[in-house]
Amino acid sequence: MSILVFVEDWNGAYKKASFEAVAYAKSWATMNSNKVIAVTSVSAPAGELAGYGADHIIQIGLGSTAMGIAGQLKELSAEASGIVIAGTSLGRSLAPALSALTSGALSTNTISLPLSTSPLQLKRGAFSSKGIETIELDSTMPIVSFVPNSIGLEPVAGEGNLESREISSNDALEVLSTEVASGKVALPEAEAVVSAGRGLKGPENWGMIEELADVLGAATACSKPVSDIGWRPHSEHVGQTGIQVNPNLYIAIGISGAIQHLAGVSASKTIVVVNTDPEAPFFKAADYGIVGDAFEVVPKLVNALRAFKAAS
Ligand SMILES: Cc1cc2nc3c(=O)[nH]c(=O)nc-3n(C[C@H](O)[C@H](O)[C@H](O)COP(=O)(O)OP(=O)(O)OC[C@H]3O[C@@H](n4cnc5c(N)ncnc54)[C@H](O)[C@@H]3O)c2cc1C
Repeated sequence: MSILVFVEDWNGAYKKASFEAVAYAKSWATMNSNKVIAVTSVSAPAGELAGYGADHIIQIGLGSTAMGIAGQLKELSAEASGIVIAGTSLGRSLAPALSALTSGALSTNTISLPLSTSPLQLKRGAFSSKGIETIELDSTMPIVSFVPNSIGLEPVAGEGNLESREISSNDALEVLSTEVASGKVALPEAEAVVSAGRGLKGPENWGMIEELADVLGAATACSKPVSDIGWRPHSEHVGQTGIQVNPNLYIAIGISGAIQHLAGVSASKTIVVVNTDPEAPFFKAADYGIVGDAFEVVPKLVNALRAFKAAS
């Protein structure tokens, strides 16, 4: 039997989280001398997936909704003894749908490779990622949805055999419209995130946030009220009810640090907070804090980073 892994793409190119998913599946498969079957709709070179451990690559026309894709993966799961899905926005809808269809046991928010395989033992973030628990998936179809950037990329060669198949999609829902995220870097998988809140006073002040993100090669994000008011698109809202991020660097500007916001960002490796209020709760979660006015601090940061880049 094999480990099945779903490979997501963005405009025809594999996402970084998909390479991580394939590498995850390879580590798991190797523990039981299994193979990795990667499922993609992209006709990009198979070698890219083989380089992270895909032994067999199945190319299909994927459905347009999470339910439709879950139905297709269910059919392919007959050839598998486990499934890996990256916890991207799509992956976080797909994994529970697939769990329901296959009656497989699902670990969401997973932050470790398998610790053992019979039964499958994993670590996952619990209580809005405030704690870490070790769980066992006692099931004939364990499904792992992991937090992007939490595992790391380990290039290990797979055989990379390519096969095209037709599997019809039962899209139970019709997509009426789609909102394309405007940021240059995809937020869920970003290595660095510059995020701002109501302290920015209005949407006209986001230019400096975008400049800072630009100079760092970061994605932009925001607090919930900011997207609720319409200052920024909903695709940038992070937190308990928004996107959960796990970057190496999270810069929070003019955000108070309410528990619901922290729930989506506290897994970040380094947190930098800029806030005028020294009592703002976010400082308790910060690795570095600047008590100061965003309108003075951010332009200085942008200039300093530009000078640093020019000199190096
Ligand atoms: C069920 C539920 C779910 C929720 N889910 C989420 C979620 O997913 N994500 C989320 O973000 N929120 C969520 N919230 C809302 C959350 O509780 C907070 O209300 C929200 O995070 C506050 O947003 P904010 O920090 O941008 O605004 P505020 O609380 O208004 O804070 C603004 C901050 O900016 C600082 N500031 C002001 N001026 C400046 C300046 N010039 N320079 C620097 N700093 C300045 C202030 O000192 C203050 O700390 C949820 C709430 C509930 C009840």
